[in-house]
Amino acid sequence: MSRNWVKIKISDYARLSVNPLRKITQEQKVEPNPLKRSITLQLGDPTIFGNFPPPISLINALNNAVHRDKFPYNLSYGKYESRKAVAEYSKHQGLVTADDVILASGCSHAMEMCVLTLTASGENVLIPKPCYNYKTWLDGVKIETRAYNLNPEQSWNIDLKDMESLIDEKTRCIIVNNPGNPCGNVFSKDHIIDLLALAEKHKLPIVADEIYEHFVFPGIEYHSISSLSKTVPILTCSGLSKRFLVPGIRMGWIIIHDRNDSLSEVKQGLRNVSARILGPNSTVQYALPEILQNTQQQFFVNKMMKIACNAELAYGLLNQIPGLKPIKPRGSMYMMIKIELEKFPEFKSCMEFTQQLIREQSVLVFPSYPCFNYPGFMRIVLTVTNDMIEEACARIKEFCETHVVN
Ligand SMILES: *Cc1c(COP(=O)(O)O)cnc(C)c1O
Repeated sequence: MSRNWVKIKISDYARLSVNPLRKITQEQKVEPNPLKRSITLQLGDPTIFGNFPPPISLINALNNAVHRDKFPYNLSYGKYESRKAVAEYSKHQGLVTADDVILASGCSHAMEMCVLTLTASGENVLIPKPCYNYKTWLDGVKIETRAYNLNPEQSWNIDLKDMESLIDEKTRCIIVNNPGNPCGNVFSKDHIIDLLALAEKHKLPIVADEIYEHFVFPGIEYHSISSLSKTVPILTCSGLSKRFLVPGIRMGWIIIHDRNDSLSEVKQGLRNVSARILGPNSTVQYALPEILQNTQQQFFVNKMMKIACNAELAYGLLNQIPGLKPIKPRGSMYMMIKIELEKFPEFKSCMEFTQQLIREQSVLVFPSYPCFNYPGFMRIVLTVTNDMIEEACARIKEFCETHVVN
């Protein structure tokens, strides 16, 4: 019996787990202009240009952890001392103990664990639009995502009517990202209270992506969603990646804000799920208490000042360009810029616009569709150097002046 090997099939899980950002950067076919040095304002990784180094406390803590010279398995949901340190670090969210903490391999892993613990295939979850790549985890396991609008005219606040219209008996949770990527939204206390009232009315838990907690510009107030409710069950996810400027470390966590014991099964479920990969990196777990306790407030203040300055600079320059309308961010490290496509009849979409921008000006930005499931915008990152922002804005200006019709 001689049969030849054929191409081996993959599962829907693998085929549909597509990250649109990675797809565009890793499989991008567009060639930049060879006469111009490339400026990339695409990936949300602040380590690329060396202008945002991590805190010294973190380097020291990791050194100490490595020199322990022992790399055991830990409890799969995290070593007690590390969870205790995360609980202490998260006390602005409300009452948190080590027992309420689950460690994960980054905030994205933490979020995936939460959503897959609450939801089964055939059910649905609400996600924002524009949106970080939450669909990447859900499409492959046949969980429906229903996208509620954020409104650019109102500082990217949630359109709560739209959100409510999407809820049905198969809805299991609401994913909220605040401060947000890609919009730079930071919700006011009143807006969060309105959101919580909606969750209360429909008895839906919230899965809060707060990887940008405290990541707001000077003068802006930040409120953790869980800090404003005593009744809505909330799973809050965060981690080291963004605030400590170390995305490659892969350390994140879930805080379970239980109310009236409504999340006791969920806590057990999350502990079960954490055992699938036997927990996150043990060296970083050992370093975690020192990292969280020893990092100076000044490190965070300086970082936010620099990012806020870049936001001001980019906003001022882009706001003068015909056909563009930047939306001022209030936090995180991105800015969304509306492309008035009716003034650029050569381009049918933000994708075509941004591809031609690469070909002519070697400026790389993300089109809001497909990257964030929202048409008509582009996103830039604000953690590059001021020089790069100035140069990129000058080239974007030249590009728009060449193509705009009045
Ligand atoms: C970067 C980012 C994450 C991923 O965080 P990791 O800890 O690196 O997994 C999650 N959510 C949002 C909104 C992000 O921008």
